[in-house]
Amino acid sequence: MPEPVISISGLRMSYGEVEAVRGIDLEVMPGEIFAFLGPNGAGKTTTVEILEGYRKRSGGEVTVLGEDPQRAGRAWRERIGIVLQSGRLDPYLTVRESLGLYAGYYRAPRPIDEVIGLVGLEEKAETRASKLSGGQQRRLDVGMALIGDPELLFLDEPTTGFDPSARRQAWDVIAGLRDLGKTVFLTTHYMDEAQRLADRVTIIAGGEIVARGTPEDLGEREAQATTIRYRSGGREVALQTATPVRTLHELTGEALARGEELEGLEVTRPTLEDVYLELTEPPADGPISGDIGPKSAHRPEVSE
Ligand code: ATP
Repeated sequence: MPEPVISISGLRMSYGEVEAVRGIDLEVMPGEIFAFLGPNGAGKTTTVEILEGYRKRSGGEVTVLGEDPQRAGRAWRERIGIVLQSGRLDPYLTVRESLGLYAGYYRAPRPIDEVIGLVGLEEKAETRASKLSGGQQRRLDVGMALIGDPELLFLDEPTTGFDPSARRQAWDVIAGLRDLGKTVFLTTHYMDEAQRLADRVTIIAGGEIVARGTPEDLGEREAQATTIRYRSGGREVALQTATPVRTLHELTGEALARGEELEGLEVTRPTLEDVYLELTEPPADGPISGDIGPKSAHRPEVSE
């Protein structure tokens, strides 16, 4: 077994009375894309800042690339790349100049043209940051994090505010990081992003881990909740079944025997988003710390 790149055990963090992280354990293995999901106020940023060495913890053990981030020095810092939510671009520098400036901070930077190619900014190499679109600026942010050729990258909500096609392009860039052998620690609010990119997902809510597994494992937690919908005789029918093949066989058999169509027939498995909403739903006696509660209206309504 290779050594984990990140190992956390019993991590706690309190801000005065607020217990933001309440004893969490997790491991991230080399070369994986690890997605850390959770609603606002769940404790994600706090955890990530501790991993990056920017915040002291209240308790527990943390190892990142073999060192305690609280004590690690410059050589360790060069092995990690960080892409924050708000970029650090100089609007007056071109893509190439920005990367060149950052390359100067590292002992063994990756070649600038190679990084420009990795983030797909060849056409914009001589364009100033202020003239790039939001999605292109974000790609430059990723390029800045890659220039030092880090082993581990932290990506904080890398596609927030992107249009659908920019998100897909960003996903290609992130998937490309895995192909380079990088380890990626991704925080996101987008379940489809985690489902698409992550090898493993951990969901945190109220400072505690509420679920972990591959996106497929998490999706199967509610395998019994496969939903079949159709219209029959002007009625909308939606039913849930643990044995979709059998149920479909019966339904379609009966419909054929009656000479009827099952209009709009649709079979849906719960998405990772459904599972996420189920797990992070605030308890009835009060919300999990945080301002935006998940909305149960997103769940499929069952009318029969
Ligand atoms: P978001 O998705 O909104 O970014 P998050 O999961 O990153 O949320 P954190 O920022 O880690 O959540 O916050 C966890 C809890 O700790 C929240 O209740 C928050 O109010 C509190 N908190 C965070 N930073 C501080 C701070 N510097 N001082 C006091 N409380 C804080």
